[in-house]
Amino acid sequence: MPMKNSFSEPYFPWQQSSWDQLTQSVKSDRLAHAILLSGQSGLGKIHFVGSLSKFLLCDEPHENLACGHCQSCLLYEAGTHPDFKEVTPEDEKKNIKIDDVRKLCQQLSLTPQISSRKIAIIFPAENMNLASANSLLKTLEEPTPNTHLFLLAHRAEKLLPTIRSRCQQMKMSLPTQQQAISWLAQQADVKKPEQLLLLSQQSPLTALEFSRQNFISKRLEVLAELQQVQRKQINPCVLAEKWQKIPSMTLLNWLYSFVADMIKIKSTQNNHDLFNADVSENLKAISEQLDLKQLYCHYDNVIEAIKLNDTQINSQMMIENMIVQWVLK
Ligand SMILES: [Zn+2]
Repeated sequence: MPMKNSFSEPYFPWQQSSWDQLTQSVKSDRLAHAILLSGQSGLGKIHFVGSLSKFLLCDEPHENLACGHCQSCLLYEAGTHPDFKEVTPEDEKKNIKIDDVRKLCQQLSLTPQISSRKIAIIFPAENMNLASANSLLKTLEEPTPNTHLFLLAHRAEKLLPTIRSRCQQMKMSLPTQQQAISWLAQQADVKKPEQLLLLSQQSPLTALEFSRQNFISKRLEVLAELQQVQRKQINPCVLAEKWQKIPSMTLLNWLYSFVADMIKIKSTQNNHDLFNADVSENLKAISEQLDLKQLYCHYDNVIEAIKLNDTQINSQMMIENMIVQWVLK
């Protein structure tokens, strides 16, 4: 699938220094052959590297940006640039196939067809299993001239050390609170940007997605359902099936924020600095039915589920287990 830029700006305000650093390297002809760009999801890494690729392939770049109208830019926009390749898994929980990596390495060894360079992106790089990662090593060790490979990772520490050490490592910076809020405020129909950011670990694109999907009110529904489960008013299996429609990481993050808030309310008896300050009374009501030990047990369960969610686990079963434990307490 071609990587499409759905935002008009080539990069986001919090990416300015990364953009300057990389375009400066291009100017002085010192851009590394392999760059590992890491950072939590929702910061716009794909958008950033997509724009950078377009710039690197452009025939007539100016002011450190792609021109947008040369043959190369048009082909890039159409998703048919012959010197641009990307490798992604079929879905975010699947491995990147070794055959795809081998094919990419072979393509990178050829000379560029229409641009002065070849560019490739592997995303998320941590989805390469051992075999896929090993098949990439030779390309990293003996790069063809004028090729640049970008590995994008949400969690760089999950990559093989032999891969990491052969790349120039860069971390995508988090926006300042001010940058994130003012960027969100400029997007259409975003209400409560502060709360959206709090619920999305300060990732502006995740916050925007939450807003588009009306997640603030869906989150309240989930909390109400948690209360119903506790009162045994809803069947855990029915609820698990319903929650299956919510992206599992989002659901787990909400549950994490609920339990973390309940522990705070229970142990400090105050409602300051909560993730879900708007529903502190509901959280208090649920936490009153539980002691701190039980709350910490739920906390551990959610943390464990967040860790497992990265693996190829059956997420409906995992969620169902968690709900059942909630009923048992
Ligand atoms: Zn161009």
